[in-house]
Amino acid sequence: MSGISARNLKMEFGDFVAVRDVSFEVGSGEFVTLLGPSGCGKTTLLKMISGFLTPTGGEIHLAGQNVTRTPPEKRDTALCFQSYALFPHLTVLENLEFGLRQKKVPQADRKERLDAVIGNLDLSLHLSKLPNQLSGGQQQRVALGRALVMRPNVILFDEPLSNLDAKLRDQVRIEIRRIQQDFGLTAIYVTHDQAEALAMSDRVFVMNGGCIEQADTPEELYSAPKTSFVADFIGSANVLDAEVTSANGNGEIELSTALGPLVARTDTPPQSSRVKICWRPEHADLSANGKNRLTARVSHRAFQGHFTDLHVEASGAEYRVQTSKPAIREGDTVTFSLQPEQIVLLEAMA
Ligand code: ATP
Repeated sequence: MSGISARNLKMEFGDFVAVRDVSFEVGSGEFVTLLGPSGCGKTTLLKMISGFLTPTGGEIHLAGQNVTRTPPEKRDTALCFQSYALFPHLTVLENLEFGLRQKKVPQADRKERLDAVIGNLDLSLHLSKLPNQLSGGQQQRVALGRALVMRPNVILFDEPLSNLDAKLRDQVRIEIRRIQQDFGLTAIYVTHDQAEALAMSDRVFVMNGGCIEQADTPEELYSAPKTSFVADFIGSANVLDAEVTSANGNGEIELSTALGPLVARTDTPPQSSRVKICWRPEHADLSANGKNRLTARVSHRAFQGHFTDLHVEASGAEYRVQTSKPAIREGDTVTFSLQPEQIVLLEAMA
């Protein structure tokens, strides 16, 4: 059992609250990403899990043990940073071996662990090189290997790919996920790149202002965001205010909005008559004659290859619509429909 449990975690720096009353469970072998805008508290939360910061409130349990005040070196965790923090005067092999020597791991065990990681990360051709003789991607693999040889139960990543170019980032993220699964590691991964979070994670914790706004699978976050912040942060979404005018009991809800009356379908009845709703640009159907038919004027178009992104104006506001029809031009009037189940009800308005 190597799960993580956080209860009412809090981190205050003087009067400033960086993490407020955060509770969560991460299962053994689960890959969880902390995702959110700059300053939302991701790194602070990661540092509390690793032991580099002591929370000002709450508790952290690793593998069932309360480690809230345990120093980093006494926790079964390893940390992998964006700046690789390799020792510049040591070779790749010496860098990989460093932690094992420090922990006085016996020679035979040391060799077995090193061989496994070197093979897995394809580092055998680089063992005698110094870090400055490696590419960024190779350095990142050494940093990852150095964490993995310690066989931690929990591995923590702080934006490990942000120094790599886009292509390499894709490659290394696939490697990280494969290794995490092969070794059965519990992983917490910090990023502000939503594509990375959605592609790699079992679950994503979306953070905002020191809180976790929603903790869910990537698919759930995308299809059923709970707040307008999450709807807007994950992909793009059209968010608008709505008033519930009738709920017929079989899941269909009639709404009054700035775009006119709309019908939504939901399993969860709204808690309030005033709500926010959202719909995704790709759910606007420009060919069907379905429900929720809307008319708008195209104010901007951007051809994206397999689709065209349209900014459209209706009732004094701007919305985003995607279409596979590249012939639509700025100034055109478009009509589209929205399936009731693709209109998502968000949190009640204050
Ligand atoms: P980024 O994506 O930019 O790295 P983040 O979500 O990781 O952001 P944190 O580094 O956790 O954000 O910082 C959260 C907030 O706490 C920020 O407003 C930051 O200025 C503040 N903060 C972090 N460390 C300290 C500190 N030691 N003293 C005072 N304030 C701090």
